Amino acid sequence: MGCLMSRDELDLAIKGDLVLPHGIAKDAAVGVQNGVITGLYSTAETPSAKETVDAGGLLVFPGVVDSHVHSYSVPDGEGFEHSTAAAAAGGVTTFVEMPYDAGNPTTNPETLQEKIQRVKRLAIVDIALLATLKKEGPLDVIAPMVELGACGFKLSLFETDPDRFPRIPDGILWKALPLISAHGVPVGFHAENDEIIFRLIDEYRKEGKTYPKAHCETRPPISETISVLKLLEFAYWTRSRLHIYHVSHPRSIHLLQRFREDGVDVTTETCPHYLLFHEDDMDRLKAFTKINPPIRKREAMEEMWELLKSGHIDMVTSDHAPWGLDKKQASNIFENSSGAPGLETIFPLLYSEGVVKRGLAPVRLAQMLSEQPARRFNLYPRKGHISLGADADFAILDPSCRWAIRGSEMRTSAKWTPYEGLMVQGKVVRTILRGKTVYDGKEVTATAGDGNFIPAGKG
Ligand SMILES: [Zn+2]
Repeated sequence: MGCLMSRDELDLAIKGDLVLPHGIAKDAAVGVQNGVITGLYSTAETPSAKETVDAGGLLVFPGVVDSHVHSYSVPDGEGFEHSTAAAAAGGVTTFVEMPYDAGNPTTNPETLQEKIQRVKRLAIVDIALLATLKKEGPLDVIAPMVELGACGFKLSLFETDPDRFPRIPDGILWKALPLISAHGVPVGFHAENDEIIFRLIDEYRKEGKTYPKAHCETRPPISETISVLKLLEFAYWTRSRLHIYHVSHPRSIHLLQRFREDGVDVTTETCPHYLLFHEDDMDRLKAFTKINPPIRKREAMEEMWELLKSGHIDMVTSDHAPWGLDKKQASNIFENSSGAPGLETIFPLLYSEGVVKRGLAPVRLAQMLSEQPARRFNLYPRKGHISLGADADFAILDPSCRWAIRGSEMRTSAKWTPYEGLMVQGKVVRTILRGKTVYDGKEVTATAGDGNFIPAGKG
């Protein structure tokens, strides 16, 4: 009795409090073989394993699936070398990489193929890849890119750059959206109206109004909500699987709810900066919190928490954009780049601010950080949950450890963070990717090539 044949011995057993899809299993254990979850046990009945991780008193979460990461949109320095190390240290075992690469956006099968090879060569966590389109198409790239495993398309209504990050004209959207949805993948949007924004920025510049908060004032809530409204109507008529990236304002969520009643298939995300910062923080943090869309007023921030807790916001993503410090220090706010690093902080921040301070259930946190993003981007059931047959990806968190966030300690190439000095309760003490420890609480222990490209399943 209790004597297992050696061929049945587990590769790995982790004992701790498991955050399962429908509740926490206290003093339980999860068994792993060949990188996959093969058993769930009470600690007393845990079979022997080649390696046992004692996480007693710790929370074993599913590895975080961060569905909004820019490793190459920032021209210098980051790359998968840095972004996947940051991910491992932050408990992120899979991320969805954006297609807006500086100089070479993912707009054709050849570029996507090259990026897949780069993932295999450099990554230390798993990565799924998004594709995008050129401003005027062609659209015959959609089918071969889905065939190669692209997990969706990211498009924009706001033009940051006509080549790298263009605004796609309505006439092209009308043709592209049905094609994308026919291939079973979602299409996600940066939803901001550039006619409103560019005009306001022009006025502000002429009037010399270039103080930090001018970034928020030139991107009023309607510049987001009017774009969201347009996309919802597009999704209604084209039956698209629509995703709205980085929603900053509750009004956008209210619009989504109305269209869901009409049967529109739409999901959305918000990001930690819309939950932790409000406009007045711009005076203190200046360009460190210059992000598109902008951070909003305090009341909007508070309502975003309510919408998140009630399940009206599907997921939280980092929108990791690791600009160097040199792109964040101009006194004229408009001369700074938009975006902030966030891969390494998203999980502990959401645990501390959500679970510890605002009573969010850990199971809900796991849904919004892991399961929902995996589902939306067709990475489920392989990713996003602790269940039999899923990849053995875990983020083990010490729920009582208090620590201060320091930009200088981050693995991303950007050695700064808008959360500098913030005290956080809950620390990632180990990250496991397909059964292998890739971060041990102090060091990233994985090597390039441990991560893999995750092609999307058929949706
Ligand atoms: Zn982004």
